[in-house]
Amino acid sequence: MIFGRRFPITLMLYSAFALAVLGVAWNISQPRLAVQLPLVGILIAVGVALRLHSRLWSDFQALHEAVKRLAAGDSRDRIYLSPQSPLSGLAASVNELAVSIDRHIAAHVSRNVEREAILSSMLEGIIAVDMSGRVIEINSAAQRILSIGAIRPLGRLVQEVISNHRLQRFMTHALDSAESHADELHILDGGEEKTLTVNAAVLRDGAGARLGALVVINDATRLRKLENIRRDFVANVSHELRTPITSIKGFVETLQDGALASPEDARRFLAIIARQADRLNAIFDDLLKLSRIEQESESEQVILTRGPLVDVLHAAVQSCEKQAADAKVRIVLQCPAELTLERHAVLLEQAVVNLITNAIRYSEPGGEILVRATAPKHEVLLEVIDQGCGIEARHLPRIFERFYRIDKSRSRELGGTGLGLAIVKHISQAHGAYPTVQSRPGEGSTFAIHFPRSAQSLAA
Ligand code: ADP
Repeated sequence: MIFGRRFPITLMLYSAFALAVLGVAWNISQPRLAVQLPLVGILIAVGVALRLHSRLWSDFQALHEAVKRLAAGDSRDRIYLSPQSPLSGLAASVNELAVSIDRHIAAHVSRNVEREAILSSMLEGIIAVDMSGRVIEINSAAQRILSIGAIRPLGRLVQEVISNHRLQRFMTHALDSAESHADELHILDGGEEKTLTVNAAVLRDGAGARLGALVVINDATRLRKLENIRRDFVANVSHELRTPITSIKGFVETLQDGALASPEDARRFLAIIARQADRLNAIFDDLLKLSRIEQESESEQVILTRGPLVDVLHAAVQSCEKQAADAKVRIVLQCPAELTLERHAVLLEQAVVNLITNAIRYSEPGGEILVRATAPKHEVLLEVIDQGCGIEARHLPRIFERFYRIDKSRSRELGGTGLGLAIVKHISQAHGAYPTVQSRPGEGSTFAIHFPRSAQSLAA
């Protein structure tokens, strides 16, 4: 190496030789300086050589360190040498190399951040496994859907990460197969059944060689539940409609078969037909109400305006007064005149009418119904309290479901459709409120709607 440890000695020898030659030449004219001059020359040469060597050596060391740091992956530092240094060109190249490595690392990091952001914002779960069945990528949605808690899945075998055998088998099949495939799996997760739709695709590198498999998981539990609710609803509606229609058809046939000949029978049968037609009408009416409320609250068309609650309650009580009088039941209204509420007056009146109608239906003659509005701490509370037959505790959790009735034939006899409380629930939700029920058999029931209380609820 030309700038090695022997470089100053070489330089010194060459310089001493040059000065010695000069000294000999000079000696011819100045014989007294014949010895001193080569000596001085040697000393100067030694000094210059040592200085040059130490500077070059430290530049070289600095370069060496910089290259070592680069090799170790640290490209942040730059090396600065004097422009006169013979190594300055090499240092500039090393700096350019460091800048280029920096740029590549930054691009790589930003690509990784983007990929992470995309994966973690996906609702679908993503799991990628290599050919040996080890997890090479998994996003947070997959961890959430599969309830993968404390363990760090990356690098682990799929069997260690996923406990469900059907999903394990699907992943193994995904690795064995060269084709994409899909399935629907029902898994038990913490005692709750989940429906997952899973799609698998082969993972290949740029050259087309298989790297593993990519599985996309969708949690279809909610969707399937909604589909089931819809299916049950259609079945319920068909069942509810079939009863009056069968009855109407039966009595029409009886009339056609000769019952018309007996005016008394004919009148009786026609009255039944009329009642069943009314029933059909009531069911359609309630179904339409329900679907309208659902549609309007889904598209946020239920416009709430602030107004006194007492007006709405008063109107509801008035429209139930005849029915209450027929059933010999008294209705008492208690509501502070200053209590206001963000409400849709028509819908809210409908909900209160449904609650009062039920209270009348399930009360004994001589009973009393209290319609009460109060504003306790955090809410406005609207209650319809009766002293009727009450409801067994086991029915309470399902009482607001469509067509849920405790005693079907009694409900039908009383003119119920099984949709009254479902309508109350939807109207409550359209107001940002929720309904509750407290009841004991033989002691009566308290149906309540809890409205979030705003600052102006008790404006003077
Ligand atoms: P329905 O049209 O049958 O009254 P609802 O949805 O209004 O349908 O009520 C569902 C069921 O809840 C009723 O069939 C009845 O069994 C019960 N129920 C509702 N309100 C009361 C009440 N105030 N007292 C006792 N039972 C009630």
